[in-house]
Amino acid sequence: MTTLVSLQLLLYAVLWLLCAAGLQTARAAMLHWMGYALASAVSIALIAWRPDGPMWLTHSGSSFAMTLSLVLAGRGVEVFMHARPSNTPLAIVVLVAVLGLTWIGPQDTYGRVALMSSLNTLILLLFLTRLHPAFLAEFGLPATLAAASPPLALLGLNGFFITQALSGSSFDIGSHAAEGAWIITLIAAAAFNYLFLFLVGTRLVSTLRRQARQDKLTGLHNRRAMEDRLQLEWVRAQRFGKPYVVICVDVDHFKRINDQHGHATGDKALQLVAQALQATARDTDHVSRIGGEEFLVLMPESTASEEGVALAERLRKALSELQLVDPANALVPLRASFGVAQSLPDDPDQERVLHRADQALYEAKTSGRNQVALYQAAA
Ligand code: GH3
Ligand code: MG
Ligand code: MG
Repeated sequence: MTTLVSLQLLLYAVLWLLCAAGLQTARAAMLHWMGYALASAVSIALIAWRPDGPMWLTHSGSSFAMTLSLVLAGRGVEVFMHARPSNTPLAIVVLVAVLGLTWIGPQDTYGRVALMSSLNTLILLLFLTRLHPAFLAEFGLPATLAAASPPLALLGLNGFFITQALSGSSFDIGSHAAEGAWIITLIAAAAFNYLFLFLVGTRLVSTLRRQARQDKLTGLHNRRAMEDRLQLEWVRAQRFGKPYVVICVDVDHFKRINDQHGHATGDKALQLVAQALQATARDTDHVSRIGGEEFLVLMPESTASEEGVALAERLRKALSELQLVDPANALVPLRASFGVAQSLPDDPDQERVLHRADQALYEAKTSGRNQVALYQAAA
């Protein structure tokens, strides 16, 4: 039984090592969990070595490795949750464990079990109380309960060990109680490792999903996210008959900014423009970066000739007031042109309004830039 449990933990250590080698996200946490699985595998292998191995290793060493494994498992969860590491209390626990084990000696089973189970209980309580709010916020109640189950089971087990040790009851390796303890250890380890593997995957998927819809430079939605939003707005307009407005924004002579002030200043300009658009648009509008120096503002339930033109004018003013200086402290003028168009009830798809806004933008560009043009249907 003990050899099997130890082998299983060794396999978890290999699993975390492979994951840490292949994945950059959560690598530090996974290396901690590899350490946890390795330390508990060693602890249990040392128990399996009883009574042939030296007592200081098979008793004191095994107890210490088990406590160390809990420290590493919890520290890994702290790293995973980006929580402030509780290094000082953990260092105190490890120090007390080393001094206590040396003082008690390997012969006194009751003293050793009472001390180490108490330390294990402290570690488990520390992590459970510290980490559950962050866990709840990111993963929700079911995952939090699932993550709390293995440490709770181990708390129960350590509580049992403490009462056994204090009452001086013997706890033979082959007894029913010992079998039960191994089964709880085995299930708790399996639950912990599989759950955290699942959570690493869950977090990775949600990060990738967010990145696929976000523009890296400005943090705005990208073209793909904008297209989804536009499609949704088109469907809503078809059903409820309320028009929406699209404003195409294109920074004027942006190539000159890059050429005269450097690409890094160009990037800074795009970030400033993005912030200004976001800050000036209404909370219900959607701002996205749809190309190099091209942005789009989608205004649900609005009309172009009133709200559309008014917002575009406010945006134009906000951009022209931006103060950007290049590394040589020269002021970089920022201007942009705006094309405003409104959805029509008989638009066959969501692309039409984009074409109209683009045409209006072309009009603004050819009429001298730094201005707003409203789409005018050809007579
Ligand atoms: P116009 O007034 O007619 O819009 O002229 P423009 O110079 O703004 O337009 P053009 O399309 O000729 O140039 C756009 C430039 O934007 C060219 C490209 O190098 C630059 N650009 C595209 N993406 C980025 C980016 O992410 N960072 C920087 N710094 N420049 C970019
Ligand atoms: Mg352009
Ligand atoms: Mg441009």
